[in-house]
Amino acid sequence: TKTSSSNFIKNIVAEDLSSGKVKEVITRFPPEPNGYLHIGHAKSICLNFELADEFKGKTNLRFDDTNPVKEDVEYVESIKQDVQWLGFEWDGLFFASDYFGEMYERALLLIRKGLAYVDDQTADQIRETRGTLTAPGQESPYRNRTVEENLDLFGRMKDGEFADGQKVLRAKIDMASPNVNLRDPILYRVVHAFHHNTGDKWCIYPMYAFAHPLEDAIEGVTHSICTLEFEDQRPFYDWVIRESEMKWVPRQYEFARLNLTNTVMSKRKLKQLVDEKAVDGWDDPRMPTISGLRRKGYTPEAIRAFCREIGVAKSYGIVDERMLEHFIREDLKLKALRTMAVLQPLKVVITNYPEGQVEWLDAENNSENPDMGHRQIPFSREIYIERDDFMDNPPPKYFRLFPGNEVRLKHAYFIKCEEVVLDSEGNVVELRCTYDPETKSGSGFAGRKVKGTIHWVEATHAVPAQFRLYEPLITDEEEEEGQSFLDHLNPNSLETLEGFVEQGMKESVGGDKYQFFRHGYFNVDPKDSTAGHPVFNRIVSLKSSFTV
Ligand code: ATP
Ligand code: MG
Ligand code: MG
Repeated sequence: TKTSSSNFIKNIVAEDLSSGKVKEVITRFPPEPNGYLHIGHAKSICLNFELADEFKGKTNLRFDDTNPVKEDVEYVESIKQDVQWLGFEWDGLFFASDYFGEMYERALLLIRKGLAYVDDQTADQIRETRGTLTAPGQESPYRNRTVEENLDLFGRMKDGEFADGQKVLRAKIDMASPNVNLRDPILYRVVHAFHHNTGDKWCIYPMYAFAHPLEDAIEGVTHSICTLEFEDQRPFYDWVIRESEMKWVPRQYEFARLNLTNTVMSKRKLKQLVDEKAVDGWDDPRMPTISGLRRKGYTPEAIRAFCREIGVAKSYGIVDERMLEHFIREDLKLKALRTMAVLQPLKVVITNYPEGQVEWLDAENNSENPDMGHRQIPFSREIYIERDDFMDNPPPKYFRLFPGNEVRLKHAYFIKCEEVVLDSEGNVVELRCTYDPETKSGSGFAGRKVKGTIHWVEATHAVPAQFRLYEPLITDEEEEEGQSFLDHLNPNSLETLEGFVEQGMKESVGGDKYQFFRHGYFNVDPKDSTAGHPVFNRIVSLKSSFTV
């Protein structure tokens, strides 16, 4: 596999290896199984796995499952599937919950060292007494409990004597620290809930900031890569490793998280879209989830190339979503069959073509990749063209069909519009055209030129199909006071059309990808396609002004 260009984390790893500080690089991807992965996670996955690959190291997939209320095995399974689909193999598969016993022991050690205490204040009280960036926090009235008292109370927390929220275990560090994260952060809280992995064994759960460094140390992770929001947590990360007396000392490094224009990238919000049924599940093609991108038609190659291109930065930026689109076009350009689909059909009868005759025309499969060969497509007296390839009263520079005008049918003949058939309400329901047999595609005809080339599908062999076109679910507008992002849902995020495709696509299966002439790249929907009626999701239109 291709490796990414140089970045600051890679330089650190190279240095640590050459100085002998580490013998082997070990990274981890640590998702919380509280939702499906999104494109931002893909960046972290690529970064961690490719970094280890490049230096012949290891990467663990570790589920950070310390919050039983929000986690579920459905998410665990989807995450495994997504990481594999992206093309990565983990070395160890671990669960933070496997280490609950050890974490508990480390908390006892901190208590014994006088570095942790049980606090009876509520979460609100603790938050309110934390102070601000400019003012120190206030010490808890329970801060000076004796070691014995703390050991007793913490044991009773574990034994289930207290209700949720009644007591917490806090680190005893410094309520006046300039770093707010060091003002006696919470280590453990009481949660009476069923855990997907440990069941009812525990009713106290470690907080993320305490658990994460321990997980890294237990696994021997060398470079623990996280997003920039955790930069201020690094002193506490190091404190936990040191004071818990972990044998292995991992180091945390931060990079900027990925943000994309017009894209909601928070599991909490994505879950809300699913729960409120604003989308058809986590894998709705409009979702920026890996499963949604897959169903839409993105390939792992395109996503990995995108992640490589955006690189690893130390400061925030927002990436144009068109960059992601650029990479799927690049990936499919030479791979996808280029065929014809009519999304909004208008019947055309070619009056001078013999009735009942069908001829088979030669069509190249990919004009930029001759290795893809040719196929035969039927042509007869009746075809479908795109409704908006005809106008009764065209504006200037309209080169498609209008009364008296001639156009080229891709892979076939020139046709000329002779007559427009209207229904009783004046709607165009059919065109009557003539064709010129001398203009057959590939015949070298040079007698006259036409300015427009349109696509079409032969009517008697046409396969009925559904087409789904997408726009962003949410636009980047600011939320106003009291509004939720759900108030900014784009009502046009999904457009569904019924039309036709060439007969060769009748047997398409979910995941097949095509380039439809003039319409862009499409993927056969793996869920909603049925025998004889494929559903095509538009991955991306053909052109973009965007360049990398
Ligand atoms: P979200 O806020 O969307 O729920 P999260 O950070 O809470 O995301 P985790 O499951 O904890 O989700 O994330 C697993 C890993 O993925 C973390 O190491 C996190 O830093 C990384 N990650 C999450 N979102 C992004 C992003 N937008 N860009 C890069 N990395 C990300
Ligand atoms: Mg997280
Ligand atoms: Mg989160």
